Amino acid sequence: MIELHYGDVRYLQFQHYHPYPELIHGIFTRLGGYSSSPYQSLNTLGSLKGGDHLPHVIGNRQLVLRALALEGTPCITLWNVHGADVAVFERHEPWRTDWARLSYFEQHWTAEYIRKGDALITRERGVALALSFADCTPITFYDPVQQAIGIAHGGWRGTARGVVLATLDAMQEQFGCLAQDVRVGIGPAIGPCCYEVSEQVRQLFIGLAQFEEMPTTSRYRGLVRESAIFTTVQLPDRLSLRLDLWQTTRNQLLFAGIMPEHIEQAALCTSCHKDRFFSHRAEQGKTGRFPTLLALRP
Ligand SMILES: [Zn+2]
Repeated sequence: MIELHYGDVRYLQFQHYHPYPELIHGIFTRLGGYSSSPYQSLNTLGSLKGGDHLPHVIGNRQLVLRALALEGTPCITLWNVHGADVAVFERHEPWRTDWARLSYFEQHWTAEYIRKGDALITRERGVALALSFADCTPITFYDPVQQAIGIAHGGWRGTARGVVLATLDAMQEQFGCLAQDVRVGIGPAIGPCCYEVSEQVRQLFIGLAQFEEMPTTSRYRGLVRESAIFTTVQLPDRLSLRLDLWQTTRNQLLFAGIMPEHIEQAALCTSCHKDRFFSHRAEQGKTGRFPTLLALRP
């Protein structure tokens, strides 16, 4: 990845997207925004129920768009639920495109205007896709042949439900994308160094247990089981089970037919680098979210 800046804002780009000037993207750090502790500073998560000061959240969202020269571009997001449901955006849909405006918070969210889901794909040009992260994996997709983009939110639950498999299936079904053409980026996320998980998590991945709600679709269960990488680390007081979300995500992409040379991995742990990224785990849940954006130039 390469690091760029816009004033004090620092963001990353995947090197392998650089040959494609029609693609605009950025994975932002937490640096250079308006918010104060514990959201310092480029936090893009807001809520009417509390948390960060909303004018700061909106200021940060606008800053992010300006950094990518996307100011004024309609911007859509998802209501993340840690599932594997893929939303397809087409311009005629009544989705809200005001992610970076105060109006976003002035009306209550309804599922008609902000879809629930953890992956978002489109072929529409001139619309930015934005999701925000703190330890979960930002995964970006670009098919230069079909001119389609996608973004997925892969925490452990979404990954255990096969969210990247579902994203690629949807890109194929909706847009005719071939896996061999798709370039994928795996952004900063909590690494195997820090991601201690319970035995229940392992059982859900390997199929010894199943989610009560939104169970993993049967056609992904085998792939999810095969993809899962767990390690154990002996601590003074216990054996610590670790999930390697980076490698598990990469395995799922390979199983879906993505070429190894078309996967670029940040291999940056958000928990080890909580000075640069928000980390839900390292900051005990009292933190912000950093945004990842993707758009096709109009
Ligand atoms: Zn770490």
